[in-house]
Amino acid sequence: MEEQTLYLGCHLSNAKGYLAAGRVALSIGANTFQFFTRNPRGGSMKAIDPADAQALNALCRENGFGTLVAHAPYTLNPCSADPKVRDFAYRCLSEDIERMEYFPNQVYNLHPGSHVGQGIAAGIRLTTELLNDILTKEQSTTVLIETMSGGGSEIGGRFEQIAELIAGVKLQEKIGVCLDTCHVFAAGYDVRNDLDGVLEQFDRIVGLRRLRALHLNDSLFDIGGGKDRHARIGEGFIGLSAMRAAAHHEAFRGLPMILETPNEPPEHGDEIRLLRER
Ligand code: FE
Ligand code: FE
Ligand code: ZN
Repeated sequence: MEEQTLYLGCHLSNAKGYLAAGRVALSIGANTFQFFTRNPRGGSMKAIDPADAQALNALCRENGFGTLVAHAPYTLNPCSADPKVRDFAYRCLSEDIERMEYFPNQVYNLHPGSHVGQGIAAGIRLTTELLNDILTKEQSTTVLIETMSGGGSEIGGRFEQIAELIAGVKLQEKIGVCLDTCHVFAAGYDVRNDLDGVLEQFDRIVGLRRLRALHLNDSLFDIGGGKDRHARIGEGFIGLSAMRAAAHHEAFRGLPMILETPNEPPEHGDEIRLLRER
């Protein structure tokens, strides 16, 4: 059987520019990567250098990179009860989606937010409304909702919640899902012993065709703890063989797979090599 290309990479800083990040990716054997569009904690955004963005796009083309994954700041809360907080999320997200056109046809990943006491249903409604406000027919970017661990008042810890969020979105062709192995494991889905069963549930509830990216993280805590704490590949409760099986699973063929493990780029390269082996 023909060997399939695995698109593996890790989260990388773009503090020294996009081309620099792409070169780091190449140097560690990655053929995709994830970056923050802006300061992940605040909201401030550096002016973009179009030549730098184009240079990264060229590097990706020349080296057969898969889809790149941009990540929204994780501090913004699209379903806050406070209209000012939601407005901030609206401004960040619409600016980011505009900026993503420097990297056409890639994906932009977003945490669905925390309802902080309003209840899951209200949270889902507010996040869906915000998505309907920011998505445009013209954008080439697909916005992805990340599966969450469901700790605290986070929404997106159950596949049913992801499905409901997506069902409310008007521009269906602009929305997808990023599955985080650590998060779903923390939420109680057994990707260690029954990945096929988890994917069967995902397919039935959300639809596998919605899946556009993967976060490959091992988990510092055992299944169902609701704790979002990533471990290095093979050093957590999911373990190397299950992580490797995930990387090679046919349901994920062609998708960008991003490590968000507590490591630095050279060692991320070692993790990528571990996952590429069969
Ligand atoms: Fe995330
Ligand atoms: Fe993640
Ligand atoms: Zn996480």
